[in-house]
This record gives sequence, structure tokens and C-alpha cells, in this order.
Amino acid sequence: MVRVSDVVDLLIVGGGPCGLAAAIAAQRAGLRARVLDAGSLVSTITQYPYYVSFFSTAEKLSLGGVPFVVATDKPSRRDGLAYYRAVTKHFALDVRQYERVTAIERHGETFDIQSVSMEGRTSTTHAGAVCVATGYFGSPNRLGVPGETLPHVQHVYREGHAAYDQDVVVVGGGNSAAEAALDLWRAGARVTLVHFGPTFDKKIKPWVLPDLQNRMNEGAIGARWNSRVTAIEPGVVTIGGEQADDRVPARFVFVMTGFAPNTTLLRDAGVPIDPVTGVPQHDPDTLETNLPGLFIAGVVVAGFDANKVFIENGRFHGDRIVARLMGRPVPAPPKLSAELDT
Ligand SMILES: Cc1cc2nc3c(=O)[nH]c(=O)nc-3n(C[C@H](O)[C@H](O)[C@H](O)COP(=O)(O)OP(=O)(O)OC[C@H]3O[C@@H](n4cnc5c(N)ncnc54)[C@H](O)[C@@H]3O)c2cc1C
Repeated sequence: MVRVSDVVDLLIVGGGPCGLAAAIAAQRAGLRARVLDAGSLVSTITQYPYYVSFFSTAEKLSLGGVPFVVATDKPSRRDGLAYYRAVTKHFALDVRQYERVTAIERHGETFDIQSVSMEGRTSTTHAGAVCVATGYFGSPNRLGVPGETLPHVQHVYREGHAAYDQDVVVVGGGNSAAEAALDLWRAGARVTLVHFGPTFDKKIKPWVLPDLQNRMNEGAIGARWNSRVTAIEPGVVTIGGEQADDRVPARFVFVMTGFAPNTTLLRDAGVPIDPVTGVPQHDPDTLETNLPGLFIAGVVVAGFDANKVFIENGRFHGDRIVARLMGRPVPAPPKLSAELDT
């Protein structure tokens, strides 16, 4: 059965930090805003490693001026989850969780947004404007090698305990790979890191790099630079490198090669996506796409380069969208202090 819910002024697709910030900005301007999320509130943060801390200070992750107070210099994942729940409650945001948006259709001046609940119930929401803030964890960047879909191969790293006293291969050269390799080693795993480049990515966190380099120099963590995984089998990874192929034991494989945003919704709605950058066509000031009334916010704005937009700057996108909707001058983008490379 298809349900038609009431009309809202701004429908936001995605309840990540940037989607929530857009909802707060809209509500403050007197607009009726609703957020639909395919998963839980801030589901991307639920997928961080369990014990990770944000690299941003709490203040730079805060929304709507609600103080984010923690006793440490950087908030933990749990601090972040608790804070974003509190903010949602504080502003009484209309957030509907476990409701995946499947289509955005423009009819004249307004939009029909089709969605499906976790239980398979379909709904249509009418909206004057739509903001797509579907974020970070679209689909993992796959290696495209045989065996990549085996159950012992994971694209998200949570914690190391299950790998204690086991052989593990970590693929990648960014922060996610570096931090996973270190955490696995600390949990007692025998870790080999495989990366196609000659060394780590340039933007690796400055406090992570020396730790990892020391572990590699002392031989505690193995490194295979200029190498690619060419096949994965249960218990074994084949690595092709400068010399002959090598088979290394691996009970678990962590492919930490990042994610690409899912832009299918936007493309199907009629927004061109740049094939090289992955950036949806939009006005950089107002964040309005080529379809009047359809906006983008958060990390989606950055296309394939998820390191350009993150919570620190994406949390201000809603203000620009709402300014456009209300016919007010668009505020300037904020100055940034942090760079991200996960
Ligand atoms: C380990 C780690 C640490 C990080 N630390 C920091 C940090 O310290 N500071 C910082 O600024 N950034 C940090 N980031 C980056 C930050 O998490 C992202 O930039 C941020 O989550 C992007 O926010 P967003 O609202 O654009 O998207 P997301 O947070 O990714 O939220 C998008 C939401 O959209 C939903 N969604 C997707 N498709 C649909 C659909 N079809 N229908 C309905 N809902 C949908 C998803 O379920 C998700 O909840 C970190 C990232 C990682 C991985």
C-alpha cells in the first residue's frame, strides 16, 4: 500500500550531521523540515571503529549552537552519537529513521519523494524543496579482484579483538588503513599492510604516522609497498608486486580503500554527475542543483573527494540552502582548520 504523507517545505534525505544541520537551519527559518534516513540517526558515525576519536574538537562538530562538551580534547565516537541524539531531541527534529528514499520526482514547482521503510512499506512525501545529504558510506571502492566478496573480507573496521593471534592483511595507504593496521597489531594480530603506492598517503594524521613507521621499522607490522592484491581466497591473499606474485596467509582481510558517494538518486532525478570528479552539478554558493528546489549538502558536494567536505564545514551548508529558499543573502563558507583523509 502506498501512503501519502503531508506536505513539508524541505525534505532532507540523510540524517547525518550535515542533514541534521540543514533541518535545524530550516526549522529556525520557520520552515517545516523532515529528515528521512535509510538507517539510524548519524548512521555513518555508528560505522566508525568503536574506540576511535574524532580528529576535530567537539566545538567544530557542534550543530545549531548547542554546546558539545567533553572532558577530553577530542570527542569519542560514543560522545558524538550521544551528542547528535541530544541535538535531535533538543530541536524536536522530525527525523524518520529506517526510511530509504528511492526516488525524487519533480512535478511543476514541488517534489514527490518516494521512500520505503525497513519493513517494505512504501510512502510518498510532498515537498516544496529537497536537500540530498546522503553522505559518505555510499559504496566501498572495490579492488575488483576474485574473492573480494568472501565473508572474511571487510570494508569497515570496527575493532581488533577477533583478530588476536591471527594473520591479517590490511589494504590501503590512508588513515583508515593506517589506524586499522596499528589497532590490529595492538590487539595481537600479525599484520601485513598492502598499498599500491610507494608509501603512505600524504594527508595521514601527523600523530599516526610516526607510530606506524616505528612499528614497521622494527618489523612488527609488515609493509608491501608498490603492490596490489590480485586475489583473495579463504586464508590466503595473493599479492602482485614488483617481483613475482606472493601468497601471504590472511584469516581476515580489511580493504580500507575508501567509499564513493551514491549519486543514483540525484542522477535519476535529472542532475548531471561529473564523471571525473563525481560532483553533482550545482551552484557552489547556494548548493542548488540544475533542478530548481533540489539542493545538495554535506559530503555529497565533494563528489569522489570525501576529504574536502566533512562535518566541520558541511554543517554550514544548510544555512546557505535556507538563505536561498528564504531569498536572503547567502553566508560565506567558513574557514577550516582541519583536513581529513580517512
Ligand atoms: C573514522 C572516521 C572519523 C571521522 N572523523 C571526523 C572528524 O573528526 N571531523 C569531521 O568533520 N569529519 C570526520 N569524519 C568524516 C565525517 O564522518 C563525514 O564527513 C560526515 O559523516 C559527512 O556528513 P554527511 O551528513 O554529509 O553524511 P553522512 O554522515 O554520511 O550521513 C548520510 C546519511 O544519509 C543516509 N542515506 C544514504 N542514502 C540514503 C537514502 N537513499 N535514503 C535515506 N537516507 C540515506 C545514510 O544512512 C546516512 O545516515 C570522519 C569519518 C570517519 C570514517
